[in-house]
Amino acid sequence: MVGAEALEFGGQTSCVEVRAGGGVIILDAGSGIIPLGKSLLEEGVTEIDLFFSHVHYDHIIGLPYFLPAFWNKAKLRIWAGHMLDDATTEQLVDGIFRPPYFPITKEYMRADVEYHRFSPGDVLEPSPGVRLVTGRLNHPNGAVGYRMEREGAVFSYLTDFEHDEGRGDDEVRRLAADADLALLDTTYTPEEYPRYVNFGHSTWDHVGRMCAQARVHRWGMFHHMHMREDIDQAAIESAAQKIYPNSFAVRQGQHFQLFGRTERDRK
Ligand SMILES: [Zn+2]
Ligand SMILES: [Zn+2]
Repeated sequence: MVGAEALEFGGQTSCVEVRAGGGVIILDAGSGIIPLGKSLLEEGVTEIDLFFSHVHYDHIIGLPYFLPAFWNKAKLRIWAGHMLDDATTEQLVDGIFRPPYFPITKEYMRADVEYHRFSPGDVLEPSPGVRLVTGRLNHPNGAVGYRMEREGAVFSYLTDFEHDEGRGDDEVRRLAADADLALLDTTYTPEEYPRYVNFGHSTWDHVGRMCAQARVHRWGMFHHMHMREDIDQAAIESAAQKIYPNSFAVRQGQHFQLFGRTERDRK
């Protein structure tokens, strides 16, 4: 939702920035990457790793307007896990910068762009000391879930999945286990869900149960339904918090700080 009805939780689509190990890591290039790109440019950030969960429109729509991609001093590494159709990361980005949907092709990006591809299940190291665990999520056309670990601090980004009480849920629990903070797909309410079975999204009650099983310390309801207004999202948040006090609905622009084991010991 965009406009006055959705100012608190926000109307931008998925984009999360993580600063860890000296690196700038971006998860997804939804419309939220547009203001992020402006601030990264102002800050003069020259090295960026961008990871796609998958390439549905709401996760890529901001990339053509991401200013650092057009700055010749920037280095942009774009990562994608094997999607179900087996396209390379470069082919996926080709599909985004494509006339007549966009007037220019990806060759007009002035940043030094590198394309990297991995298989869900791989463990990567985007910045020194940052362990990035990946896994496949249950979503139409496939999606990748991420778990980031550094010095004992754990952050999980698990959007665009539908609970299945099978391998998919096992993978969500594996990627979320003991996380200090996890953001998970809670697009639908339990009441809405029966109308959207197989659309590839979950609900706060299923996610809450999985987070309890996985001993997640704090979890955020993410990927709000696109027609949701603030007033309804706030009601969903308080309903969830009655059962899961360690839950909250993610707000646009919200910041979190996680402390690693050594940083915690110093306190
Ligand atoms: Zn999707
Ligand atoms: Zn999505």
